[in-house]
Amino acid sequence: MKGLRSVALIAGLTLLSSVAWADQGETTHDTRSAALSVSSAASFSEIRQSDLVEKVLFKRRKLRKEAICGDLDIQGEEVGAVAGKLRGCGAQNAVRVRSVAGVTLSQPSIMTCETASALSQWVQKGVQPAFRKRVVGLRVAAHYSCRTRNNRPGAKISEHGRAKAIDISGFELKNGDLVTVLQGWKARGTRKQLQKVWKAACGPFGTVLGPKADRYHQDHFHLDTARHRGGAYCR
Ligand SMILES: [Zn+2]
Repeated sequence: MKGLRSVALIAGLTLLSSVAWADQGETTHDTRSAALSVSSAASFSEIRQSDLVEKVLFKRRKLRKEAICGDLDIQGEEVGAVAGKLRGCGAQNAVRVRSVAGVTLSQPSIMTCETASALSQWVQKGVQPAFRKRVVGLRVAAHYSCRTRNNRPGAKISEHGRAKAIDISGFELKNGDLVTVLQGWKARGTRKQLQKVWKAACGPFGTVLGPKADRYHQDHFHLDTARHRGGAYCR
């Protein structure tokens, strides 16, 4: 298979160089006959196809190699155990996520596979539909961090300290636009989209906090996979 592909590629290169020669008006008898031997429409399309197949295979191999949590949609690397200074912080099998469902995180973010998987679900079923599949990046405001809730001394350990939480402050679109939670939440053009996105996080995540919640969440969505007795807590 590999041999055949290289033959096809070499034939393709020979053909292309022959065509280039011909364009320069320097076609010799030899190169013309070489070109003729491979220049039927069929072989040309076969070469282009094998080139395409090669590209797809390369992309797939790369995806498979960098997939984590047993999911091709989650790309990054394994981190293992993370520890923190405060009692109650840390996680056992953490991962550093670079992208989910083809959407790049603005910074590689440490979290558990459960949280990575919730993030991927949310991007595919909530974020992309709301933005008509135009999202290419997520702005990450915070991920793993050993600290108390809202950084208040003596408060409970935040889910960020357990690698179960991620804060998203904006959405990067294909055309380069950035829709931020801070400005977009009230803006006429993006209000509905951001509300849809916020609502869709409720389910994949057990806790969802946005600008409606309190003064700490005016500029980002806090998403975590803590499970609550009364079901998901979304504000
Ligand atoms: Zn948070």
